[in-house]
Amino acid sequence: MKEYDKLADIQRDLWARSLSCSDLVDFYLARIEDHKDLNIFLEVYTEEARQKALEVDQKIEKGTAGRLAGLVLGIKDVICYKGHRLGASSQILGEFQSLFTATALQKLLDEDAIVIGHQNCDEFAMGSSNENSAFGPVRNPHDPNRVTGGSSGGSAAAVAANLCHASLGSDTGGSVRQPAGFCGVVGAKPTYGRISRYGLIAYASSFDQIGPITRSIEDAALLTEIMAGLDPHDQTSSSEKIGTYVDHTPQKDTYKIGYFEEVIQHPSLDAEIREQIEAWMERRRKEGHELVKLSFPLMSHMVPTYYVLTTAEASSNLSRYDGVRYGYRAPKAENLEELYVRSRSEAFGTEVKRRIMLGSFVLSAGYYDAYYGRAQKVRRKIQDQTHKFFAEVDFIMSPVSPGVAFNLGEKVDDPIEMYLSDIFTVHANLAGLPALAFPLGKHSSGMPTGIQLMANAFEEGELFSFSLTCKD
Ligand code: GLN
Repeated sequence: MKEYDKLADIQRDLWARSLSCSDLVDFYLARIEDHKDLNIFLEVYTEEARQKALEVDQKIEKGTAGRLAGLVLGIKDVICYKGHRLGASSQILGEFQSLFTATALQKLLDEDAIVIGHQNCDEFAMGSSNENSAFGPVRNPHDPNRVTGGSSGGSAAAVAANLCHASLGSDTGGSVRQPAGFCGVVGAKPTYGRISRYGLIAYASSFDQIGPITRSIEDAALLTEIMAGLDPHDQTSSSEKIGTYVDHTPQKDTYKIGYFEEVIQHPSLDAEIREQIEAWMERRRKEGHELVKLSFPLMSHMVPTYYVLTTAEASSNLSRYDGVRYGYRAPKAENLEELYVRSRSEAFGTEVKRRIMLGSFVLSAGYYDAYYGRAQKVRRKIQDQTHKFFAEVDFIMSPVSPGVAFNLGEKVDDPIEMYLSDIFTVHANLAGLPALAFPLGKHSSGMPTGIQLMANAFEEGELFSFSLTCKD
């Protein structure tokens, strides 16, 4: 089978009847089987995907197929799909099954996407390497001794290894973009509120967004366009007009692309990535775009602010997993208090417990003002300053991460070092802005490198269309 980067190419072959959805599903099922050692899928919906493929093939015959006919999709284990197990790669949900389907996923299903299974991730989407899963780490298809990034590691690795055409991940601080960068594929985090969070397991509700991971910018635009929109089930979803992301006409001939001096000069930035970024900027200059040097002294506050606020929100969101309502229940508890304590102690992993404790601490009486309250103020300053930048520039460019995918086990004992790998991605979530990660080049280690563009709120159309012009 050909290696397809764009759904449009798959559909061309489907319409020409040189390919069927059943062929596609069988192809991906065989590849999933062959790549089991990468530990990407937690569950594969073999029969169901085959059945759905037959249905879509019939629709193609009748001319009634949806916009996503031929799209074989994997979903991160934090996205609800009615009647299917949902576990957030944790032990605490046990055998829990979704009672409804996430709005974002439902919109894709309505357009005839076929879901092939759900994918491993960091437990409750907390992590940057996919090593925090209760089901073991995912291995990077480019080098199985390296991490995939996280937390949507299985989702990015699946697309990179061609085990499905696209995946749905979630991005709270970079979890779609960073693994996309580490695996050499495309990852989009839309504006906060652009895509409904209904049916997404909450990590930090004021940061979380569902986003697509794809092999092309065109497909990221297509999936974002279909998933976008107001949802009565999510009060934070936006009524802002969606527009077209797929065939968006660029509003300008040349753009102003900002970059932070603090990012380019950051001591943690790999020298080869810096060179590739500088060469990318030079190519844009030659095309007539303006590169604008910006300074962002708040840069060093970004990761601490992110971790204070997200752990606070997580400690509240995860309080619902109490051993009573979902999945795992500790045996032999003598009373209710003990049931809570034992269920949570036994079934949450180390990183999740660390964050619940940190989040409870920053919210506790006596410390609230010093930590949570102060971090909220810093977030506001970051947002205000970022808005000012967008009065001056159209996009802000940065690497996706300071380095390439690191070795498995390399950072597990050093949470601070691990948290710092999010340094370039958390900005978009703190400010609620859309950001797109796409491949930049190859590193001498053989691993892919990635670049990220962030745009102003609800400027996804401009972000996708401009990024398409600068794939080089
Ligand atoms: N790596 C970040 C974290 O651990 C981002 C996670 C995410 O975006 N879900 O919080």
